[in-house]
Amino acid sequence: MISVEAALQRVLEQVEQLPPEEAPLLETLGQVLAEDVVAHLDVPPLDNAAMDGYAVRAADTTAADEHSPVSLRVIADLAAGYTTDIVVGPGTAIRIMTGAPLPAEADAVVQFEHTDEGRRVNPRLEPARRENVAILVPAKSGLNVRRAGEDIRAGQVVLRRGTALRPAELGVLASLGRSTALVYRRPLVAVLSTGDELVPLGQPLRPGQIYNSNSYAIAAQVRRTGGVPLLLGIARDLPEELIARLHEARRADLLITTGGVSMGDFDVVKNVLASEGEVTFWRVRMKPGKPLAFGRIGPTPHLGLPGNPVSAMVTFEMFARPAILKMMGKGNYRKPSVRATLEQGARNTDGRRVYLRAYVRKVGDDFVASLTGPQGSHIATSMTGANGLAILPEDAAEVRPGERVQVLMLDWPEDENL
Ligand code: AMP
Ligand code: MG
Repeated sequence: MISVEAALQRVLEQVEQLPPEEAPLLETLGQVLAEDVVAHLDVPPLDNAAMDGYAVRAADTTAADEHSPVSLRVIADLAAGYTTDIVVGPGTAIRIMTGAPLPAEADAVVQFEHTDEGRRVNPRLEPARRENVAILVPAKSGLNVRRAGEDIRAGQVVLRRGTALRPAELGVLASLGRSTALVYRRPLVAVLSTGDELVPLGQPLRPGQIYNSNSYAIAAQVRRTGGVPLLLGIARDLPEELIARLHEARRADLLITTGGVSMGDFDVVKNVLASEGEVTFWRVRMKPGKPLAFGRIGPTPHLGLPGNPVSAMVTFEMFARPAILKMMGKGNYRKPSVRATLEQGARNTDGRRVYLRAYVRKVGDDFVASLTGPQGSHIATSMTGANGLAILPEDAAEVRPGERVQVLMLDWPEDENL
């Protein structure tokens, strides 16, 4: 038997980062930048108003006071999206809206609330033009002015190659006018279920048959990780059929099969895998998910996950997810984890690393993990209630109720204290 780490290392050695491609901006969410992004413009492009109010010469307002306001002549109105050639000369002001470029010779914006206009219930309902405005509070030079380039300077590297794109990064790219980004391509991941007992969704079951659930759980994991699933359906345990399906997988970047890799299984699957490509069958020191196949079908790396639904999902998290992340150019394949107090005890019978399905919740400043029920690898519903996999290490015979364990997080718990 090999360790989880050794198996992962061998998988990662066999997959490569995919080539970059230009993709529409919104589609790149979750992908990794393959270019340094250099700003070609200042953001904001011009000095502009940070408040609705009056663009003034600060020096004009020095003497302003609630009881002896300074009166300025209003010479223009300026909304966001427009510029003006009108200059703010001594004793004048331009009525200005947030985001509008600061007019020439103005160096401050007095917000409505510090003028006689602010005394009205709703300044927005004021008639646009008025003769004069009374300034009630002195303004310092630069007050309520956002400077050109204050956020991003032209020539600056805003985002570096290797950055994972989140909503904030997409927003910054959009602020530079970019409608596309160069990112490492998402892998096309073929998903094939094997087994004579499997029936496609939507068809009636005959005795002895079950629905093909793995394809959907695995394809969903592929998509969640950032890959593009390609559902190849079901291959019965017949050489010709399996061979035909495996050939369909050649155009994919990764092939994931489920089933047919355990000890007592039909040799046909193993033989076909071995004859059609190179394959190694591993026994990995983990539970669930001991049997695992890894190899290539032509140019395509192939991960053969066990058939039991929980084993398939857990081995996906341990091996397929890191492979997909590496292909997408990500540097960190680790699942986030927390230390949590396990409410129930659990035993380790054969020296494998046990991944227990658990629900983690936050209690005060601590995390508490509770097992989601029976832990058989065929109990798919033990995954539905889980947001984490609690680890019972290979060298621990048992964990007692109330002991601390490491939990790999599949999702984050809502903080019930907030
Ligand atoms: P195997 O690894 O092929 O021996 O399968 C182990 C167990 O997982 C058996 O009980 C199978 O019926 C079940 N199984 C295999 N493939 C699937 C699948 N695609 N969906 C649901 N259960 C499956
Ligand atoms: Mg089978």
